[in-house]
Amino acid sequence: FLKGKTAIVTGSNSGIGLGVAHRLARAGADMVLNSFTDSDQDHQLARDMAAEHGVAVRYVKADMSKGDDCRALVEAAGTCDILVNNAGIQHVAAIPDFPVDKWNAIIAINLSSAFHTTAAALPMMRKGGWGRVINIASAHGLTASPYKSAYVAAKHGIVGLTKVTGLETAREPITCNAICPGYVLTPLVEAQIPDTMEKYGMGREEVIEKVLLERQPSKDFATTEQLGDTVVFLCSDAAAQITGTTISVDGGWTAL
Ligand code: NAD
Repeated sequence: FLKGKTAIVTGSNSGIGLGVAHRLARAGADMVLNSFTDSDQDHQLARDMAAEHGVAVRYVKADMSKGDDCRALVEAAGTCDILVNNAGIQHVAAIPDFPVDKWNAIIAINLSSAFHTTAAALPMMRKGGWGRVINIASAHGLTASPYKSAYVAAKHGIVGLTKVTGLETAREPITCNAICPGYVLTPLVEAQIPDTMEKYGMGREEVIEKVLLERQPSKDFATTEQLGDTVVFLCSDAAAQITGTTISVDGGWTAL
């Protein structure tokens, strides 16, 4: 049902972004993939996705820590019906020790990038007469954890930006929502497992259940496919009156 629509997914050569892009392509959307690298592998990913789903797929390098790059990504797409702001990074440290460069990078990539891409995409959506802005926030957009100051601040910020975008487009056939995942087993999370095993002297399974999924009552990860399907749902007519809000895919985390 998304045939003829163009979707941009930021940070989509890995993890949730890649899963979301696959589901949008499967639903018929032409895709613009993105990250800050420009490798053969990145472009191969685009060719493979095009072949698998029979849609047009391009990979466009743009660094989401830079406002100009964010806007250039949307311009390079030429048109934009669906914008998924997904690029994100994490850093864990107590506030007095939190490196300033990490704070700035997280605010830029996890929050400001969505402001820039949305600013560039809304005129295109208005021209096309339809649009969906979907921000990948986090359970940390609604709750907090110690040592994740920049991430939690950025994710709460993107939930706020989602509300404003929803209000500014409320009278148009454009919606803006945030998806708030709990833990999803992606490279971002996988990378935290070895250190955590060492820190707590636990095995992999124990770390997953007792540390990572401590606050996820389902004791199971959400999958990138489930997040992709949630994005596709938000693009459907059933979701036309859902705007300016959040959908949690967190196994009960925010019910606690
Ligand atoms: P990931 O590390 O697998 O993917 C992150 C993506 O962002 C990659 O494609 C990476 O290349 C890209 N990226 C990083 N810096 C970039 C930059 N400067 N410019 C352009 N692209 C850049 O991580 P993920 O787990 O798939 O995370 C994706 C999003 O989902 C993030 O916003 C993250 O905060 C959010 N999220 C993840 C989880 C989880 O448990 N994995 C939970 C909640 C929210």
